[in-house]
Amino acid sequence: MHKQNYQYILNRVQTPTRYSGNEINTVKKDLSLVDLTFALAFPDLYEIGTSHFGLQILYSILNKREDIAAERFFAPAPDMEALMREKKVPCLSMETRTPLGCFDIIGVSLLYELNFTNILTLFDLSGIPFYADQRDAEFPLIIAGGPCAFNPEPLADFFDAFVIGDGEQVITQVADTVIAFKKAGDGQKKTLLRMLSRIKGVYVPSFFTVSRDGDGHQMLTPLYEDHSRIKRAILPELTFADFPMSPIVPFGKPVHDRLRLEIARGCSRGCRFCQAGMIYRPVRERSLEDLLEITQASLATTGYSDISLLSLSTGDYSQLPALMEALLLLSQGQCNAISLPSIRAEKLTPQLMALIKSVRKTGFTIAPEAGTQRLRDIINKNLTEESIAKTVENALSLGWKNIKLYFMTGLPFEQMDDIQGIADLTRRLASSYTRGKQMINASATCFIPKAHTPFQNHAQMTLDQTLEKLQYLKDNLRHPKVKLKWQDPKMSLIEGVWSRGDRSLSPLLVKAFELGCRLDGWSDHFNFSLWEQAFEATGIEPAFYTSRQRTPGEPLPWDHIDAGIKKAFLENELKKAEEMSLTPDCRENACTGCGICDFKTIAPVVQKNNGGRDTSSDIIPDKNPAGQSARLPDDAFIKYELKFSKLDDARFFGHLEMATIFQRAVKRTGFAVKYSKGFNPSMRISFATALPLGMESEAESLYIYLEKGLTPQSIMSALNAQLPRDIAITDCGLFRKSPLPPTPRDTYQISFAAPCIRQPELDRFLALSEFMVEDMSKKGKIRKTDLRKALLSVRLISPIRLEMTLIPYNARIVRPTEILAKGFGVDDIVVTDARIKKLK
Ligand code: SF4
Repeated sequence: MHKQNYQYILNRVQTPTRYSGNEINTVKKDLSLVDLTFALAFPDLYEIGTSHFGLQILYSILNKREDIAAERFFAPAPDMEALMREKKVPCLSMETRTPLGCFDIIGVSLLYELNFTNILTLFDLSGIPFYADQRDAEFPLIIAGGPCAFNPEPLADFFDAFVIGDGEQVITQVADTVIAFKKAGDGQKKTLLRMLSRIKGVYVPSFFTVSRDGDGHQMLTPLYEDHSRIKRAILPELTFADFPMSPIVPFGKPVHDRLRLEIARGCSRGCRFCQAGMIYRPVRERSLEDLLEITQASLATTGYSDISLLSLSTGDYSQLPALMEALLLLSQGQCNAISLPSIRAEKLTPQLMALIKSVRKTGFTIAPEAGTQRLRDIINKNLTEESIAKTVENALSLGWKNIKLYFMTGLPFEQMDDIQGIADLTRRLASSYTRGKQMINASATCFIPKAHTPFQNHAQMTLDQTLEKLQYLKDNLRHPKVKLKWQDPKMSLIEGVWSRGDRSLSPLLVKAFELGCRLDGWSDHFNFSLWEQAFEATGIEPAFYTSRQRTPGEPLPWDHIDAGIKKAFLENELKKAEEMSLTPDCRENACTGCGICDFKTIAPVVQKNNGGRDTSSDIIPDKNPAGQSARLPDDAFIKYELKFSKLDDARFFGHLEMATIFQRAVKRTGFAVKYSKGFNPSMRISFATALPLGMESEAESLYIYLEKGLTPQSIMSALNAQLPRDIAITDCGLFRKSPLPPTPRDTYQISFAAPCIRQPELDRFLALSEFMVEDMSKKGKIRKTDLRKALLSVRLISPIRLEMTLIPYNARIVRPTEILAKGFGVDDIVVTDARIKKLK
């Protein structure tokens, strides 16, 4: 029932592959055969959520267990949400299209405060009450984790529990507890929550009562002594076992469409504004050997061509030159690209520079954060202008075209000279180092003080102050080689409210949702006036949370969350900021006493202190991940013609997406394939025609150069094993050029949801001598088409199904949708909902 409704919805939405599922490496289980069903919900659009590495980790860990099935959910875009409401369809999982409310646990990733309204969208569409105290044990247990959980209070009323810290171990402990409760518990939600509260890293907000002091500050009183201070869960080291070796390969346009290698977790630099730098300590690096093995295994399971290195401070990975050399050499046989991090100038070896020059570049980012040395010292950025300049100079000389520079305004102790400093530094870099088409893209965001940082008490700039500084920057940063971008200060204001908010904000979230706030992190969806109305309606004053300087010692909403960093360390760091005194990086220097490490189980894991190697040459494999040798000569390949079908959900793949799907499938087979020459080689694969989005086909063709000696049968079976469901190779043979190309004629079968046309109407059209229509070509020219001449035949097979054969008119391919709408006058919505299949 749901699936059918979903089908008719997907026809009408802008990007159906956001919801269609069936990506490579998804796991589908029979939910009736597992002990626990776990919904992993990411409250943002698919293209963001599916790129999140943490979600891939949890999905992999949970699905490795035979007794657990984990499935994914993402926030719907407004067009999808409207149709779901119209058709009364709840949020359905990507894997088995099971409604969200049917899962045992819903785990929500909290990565960004401007996603909060999307959480309510998921609940509301699924008939799940917003407030935790309105949900008994019949509803799923709803938990959340991620960086925003380090101040869980603004969402405390909505969730049953939060996971604070690394999720790898906690998630299985939570799962085991719920399984045990399902099997032998008393059915009381409170009992389950009490069991969960004993897991390290789990916070149950309903086990605290709320009061307020005379100044309106939230104060929490724990109900249980053993659940009064919530210690963060910390993974002592990143293990091979927890890495998702077969990550899901998303469809569509994910923001990160490449293999993501988490090379380290945590950061040791100690930037005083940075929450991630505090709450993910200590630094834990993966070994070079593990990373190379993971890379090979993951490239083979995904078919990705690109790799990006993931960590808070990739340039600080202690074995970075060796890792990059190894990855760059590894990639040479496969035409891969690597998104290179902003490696520091002093770490560039001559060999590495030569390798970097030889590969395709993506963006190069460097984050000075502040424009003057004074302010960079205040925030402990540990970057001098000289090293910034050298890094930019190197990057431009190594072939990057665009350098991104990140700055913040509104940092503590900032003066107008520091804003001028941003303009001066950027202009100096642009004037000194850019040549030809090279550009500097500077971006300015508003500093938002975050919990668990030395600046957690600091006042955020008001909207007026932010706008004034931004205008100053716009006026003073004019240079032909510089583009300046900035984040909407109004979005920063809303983010600031939630970052340091408390439980008083619950009505604000509900009101904002009711007024229509959705996808607030997207500038094209963010609507500040709705937020202003929500503040007005709830009587909440945003300045109490944003531009108010907290007094020393005032109770903070997150005081009961123990991130592991000592409060005295944070206070001392603030003092040192005032004195412009630096705190050294504890990866390369002695411990600076933040308090997270006990040096027994928890300590920094730095590879160079751990037997790491200086060079990679002895660990680089001589085979690529799919087992083939590096590039073969051109005469080792031969051209094949493959016929394939594209049915059911595969109709939602656009032409470019199909090309990517086939390229990755070919890579996963391990066959050697021919690439074009040049700096940016591409796989030699082409399609006979481009099928329109939404159309099925039994008769498509593609051409590809594969290694000689393969049999058609082996190509077919290897590729069919690697293609997504609903795409299948139906025939394969050596390509033979036809002496005369046949006149194209295509027959389509069209199925409607209900009868909409009768045979006499078709006959009347067939009796016409011509039926001219006009439209605009892609080049903007008016073109005339005789639809009657394009229609060779049409007949009703049943009241809801017809078959038509079309030929081109003046070399223009006429689509069956055009005949239906313009020729037969079928309603646009009926045409959109029709299933159209090109027949063999
Ligand atoms: S306790 Fe010391 S070594 Fe560990 S993260 Fe903190 S500063 Fe670094």
